[in-house]
Amino acid sequence: MKKITILGSTGSIGTNALKVIEGKSNQFEVLAISGYSNLNLLLEQIEKFDPKYICIGDESKANLLKSKYPDKEIYFGDEGLKAMGALDEADIVLTAISGAVGIEATVEAIKKEKRIALANKETMVAAGEYINKLLKKYPKAEIIPVDSEHSALFQSMQGSRKEEVQTLIITASGGTFRGKTLEELKDVTVEQALKHPNWSMGKKITIDSSTLVNKGLEVIEAHMLFGIDYENIEVLVHPQSIIHSMVEFKDSSIIAQIGVPDMKLPIQYSFTYPSRESNIVLERLNLKKLKELTFSQVDNEVFKGVQLAFEAGKTGKTMPCVFNSANEIAVELFLKGKIKFLEIYEIIEEAMKSHQIEEIESLEIIKKVDKETRKWVYENYGRN
Ligand code: NDP
Ligand code: MG
Repeated sequence: MKKITILGSTGSIGTNALKVIEGKSNQFEVLAISGYSNLNLLLEQIEKFDPKYICIGDESKANLLKSKYPDKEIYFGDEGLKAMGALDEADIVLTAISGAVGIEATVEAIKKEKRIALANKETMVAAGEYINKLLKKYPKAEIIPVDSEHSALFQSMQGSRKEEVQTLIITASGGTFRGKTLEELKDVTVEQALKHPNWSMGKKITIDSSTLVNKGLEVIEAHMLFGIDYENIEVLVHPQSIIHSMVEFKDSSIIAQIGVPDMKLPIQYSFTYPSRESNIVLERLNLKKLKELTFSQVDNEVFKGVQLAFEAGKTGKTMPCVFNSANEIAVELFLKGKIKFLEIYEIIEEAMKSHQIEEIESLEIIKKVDKETRKWVYENYGRN
């Protein structure tokens, strides 16, 4: 039995991961789960999966859990999350929290040389340089990507060497506003932005998909995970979301990973890798029913999220952290109705312009830059 910790079990990735585990309950066991605000769902999950360790956002909810489950270990808050990442008994730690708040728990799991099933892309974006240094120090730790594009790239590269890669081609659905002009995007509502054509996901990543900032985050994530230069990373709009990404090799061969748009496959692959296994919860793709697969360029004039990410990535050091933190707060403000859709790009751009880049000598630098950037965005855009 492999013991799994799920950080963010009450979210979209977390609940999908529990379905994968349920389908393979002879092989996987839930060791630990964490939620933040959704106590009711967490309670349901505790009843069903009987985890030994549980973490929740605040102390009062933790106390409630303690009185209900005196035999279990209950944690709360950021410190609790760190402790969850560091559990000795875990074989796999799935990081399915949304946002840079997932960094420290990931760091703990690396220090314990665990397999990390990484969904939390913000960790790799904000702290990628630091994480890569840490992975060298703890060589038995491994990061297996869960993000569908990176899982596809990882799968397509099996049996090849990094030196043989010409280009990583990251596919993008184009989001809910694909084909729209700047004028048409000026007054779009939160409701409109939350309608994703192909994927059902948490709110933050759904907004990121509509701005294409998600694709930008994924470009930096790919660079950090696979060590491929930004010049050799491309984004291609593919509205059907059937090809999850592809790798072009030096000899011109392109290998793609294809499947239904469903996160359960990349989640399971990150658990079972290098093996491939059946699971009744995995849906098969019926190729005969596919009408067409189309590709086009990103409209960079309208959707600035990708270009801004390339800029932040190429600048490196603390700039990807600024890109990520500014976006996190911009999305939060947009969801609260405090800024307009297109202001998300403005915030990221201005935050990057006003940032003095620093060397990442420690995790403290990332934490400091993250905090400063958040404060800067609130001060300049958090008006009522
Ligand atoms: P959700 O918003 O659905 O879930 C987020 C999870 O994190 C919930 O369990 C939530 O708890 C918890 N959480 C939120 N804030 C905090 C906090 N401050 N401290 C601790 N826990 C917190 O997100 P998704 O599942 O959609 O995404 C998770 C990650 O996976 C993101 O990094 C995203 O980019 C990435 N990803 C997601 C994909 C998807 O299909 N959804 C695809 C590829 C990557 P609660 O709900 O109880 O408040
Ligand atoms: Mg993705």
